[in-house]
Amino acid sequence: MTERERPGAKGIVHLVGAGPGDPGLLTVRGRELLARCDAIAADALANPAIVSAARMENPGVEVHDVGKRGGSSESASQDSINDLLIRLARDGKRVVRLKGGDPLVFGRGSEEAQALAAAGIAFELVPGVTAGVAAPAYAGIPVTHRGVATSVTFVTGHEDPAKAETQTDWSALARTGGTIVLYMGVKSLPRIASALMAGGMSPDTPAAAVQWGTHPRQRTVTATVATIADVIAREGIGAPVITVIGAVVALRTELAWFDRLPLFGRRIVVTRASAQATGLRDALAALGADVLELPALRIEPLDAAPLAAAVRQLERYRWVVFTSQNAVALTWAALREAGLDARALAACRVACVGKSTADALLAHGLAADVVPARFVAEAVLDSLAARDDVRGSRVLHVAAAAARSVLPDGLRALGCAVDVVHAYRTVSGGDGAETLRAALERGEVDAATFASASAVRGYVDAVGPDLARRAPAVSIGPVTSEAIREAGILLAAESTAASIESLVAAVVASMRGAS
Ligand code: SAH
Repeated sequence: MTERERPGAKGIVHLVGAGPGDPGLLTVRGRELLARCDAIAADALANPAIVSAARMENPGVEVHDVGKRGGSSESASQDSINDLLIRLARDGKRVVRLKGGDPLVFGRGSEEAQALAAAGIAFELVPGVTAGVAAPAYAGIPVTHRGVATSVTFVTGHEDPAKAETQTDWSALARTGGTIVLYMGVKSLPRIASALMAGGMSPDTPAAAVQWGTHPRQRTVTATVATIADVIAREGIGAPVITVIGAVVALRTELAWFDRLPLFGRRIVVTRASAQATGLRDALAALGADVLELPALRIEPLDAAPLAAAVRQLERYRWVVFTSQNAVALTWAALREAGLDARALAACRVACVGKSTADALLAHGLAADVVPARFVAEAVLDSLAARDDVRGSRVLHVAAAAARSVLPDGLRALGCAVDVVHAYRTVSGGDGAETLRAALERGEVDAATFASASAVRGYVDAVGPDLARRAPAVSIGPVTSEAIREAGILLAAESTAASIESLVAAVVASMRGAS
């Protein structure tokens, strides 16, 4: 604890700049505070990934989403944000007020600090990397350059030059000859550009617009001050955008680096089932990838009564079908609970959806009669249909809730009487699985990486077997590749060695092939 936090003092509000988007551009001080504060009040422009990371490090933290979007009536008003900060601090809490970029550059951080000062609340100002410097930097545009621009002006585009009350002297700005960095107000750009040219700026002056700067979805367009507004409109560039006007823009041809990274613009899935996931995520992000993380899954057993009843009447069934290792584990728990063991299944035939399920069964002393090569319901059904002891028999199917009905439907079509017991459901931690499913549905995922066979199964469980097949996979080695093929997923590349570096190289190689 530093002196700034004043031991013994009541609450405090730290106004922290989150940086422009890339979580790596958060300051060390900002990260420290996020890791041990009591409450976070975050802006819409602060990258949610920074808040998620803080939640992982600081699980007890209370998070207030006070995203203020220009003019939206749903967003919290500035007064209510001030009131919230004051109330939290008066409750004795250490509050991080997280704002996009730098809190004091067009961020109203100073107004919040004024309100805190007036209320007698202690505060700290933690600067951040402002979008006006960072977005150009990630587009390969330095805001100053020796011999090209000796000054830079940060200006808000909310000051429409067509309005009488404007405070900005656009013609004076035109005469500085320095770089102009425009925040906000893409809509006013046509009038701002006209005002600059009317003030003497050459219409050929280079200009660039950088949307979502430092984010994996960053987009940059270049033009001249005369044409930039049209180009922005034509390319469908919308907020958040930084517009840079000045000779420095021309340096982008030489200095562009971020959008030239090998995985720039690629959406790649990293599954959290392995401990190496963080290293993999960071390595892919460093190459420019937009990394979608699949959060760890939890298995939640459902009402135990139906399974308990089923295991007491196993002699009624000719076949028992297990969907997963979880189904096996829960069935075993139910058997033991009923004072039974493997012998209760002695007269049954057993089918498993995949090899790992069969292995789990073998660990209990039972060899499965049917294990298809691919771990999908259709494959089990095909294998069962090919036998002569299935038609018309009674089948117990131990499955996950929300499992597809392919198997029971198909078995019923074969004249079987099928009892389905939903023994568990998979619950994902956070909204990562939802985001991922949506991205897969829209066909926006370029590849999914797997560092283990269990990660493949976790992925299939989380997104479902159909969506899982929408994106090609990159595997860490032969065993994982086998699991990928079993799941019916296209294998785009296999790592030559079982290391993260080699897996990343395989991703890069597969993307080169794909583009
Ligand atoms: N305090 C912030 C700016 C807030 S004003 C900072 O220091 O960066 C909001 C404006 O910032 C947006 O309209 C846009 O012009 C700019 N902005 C913020 N983040 C951006 C990003 N990642 N890419 C491009 N522009 C961004």
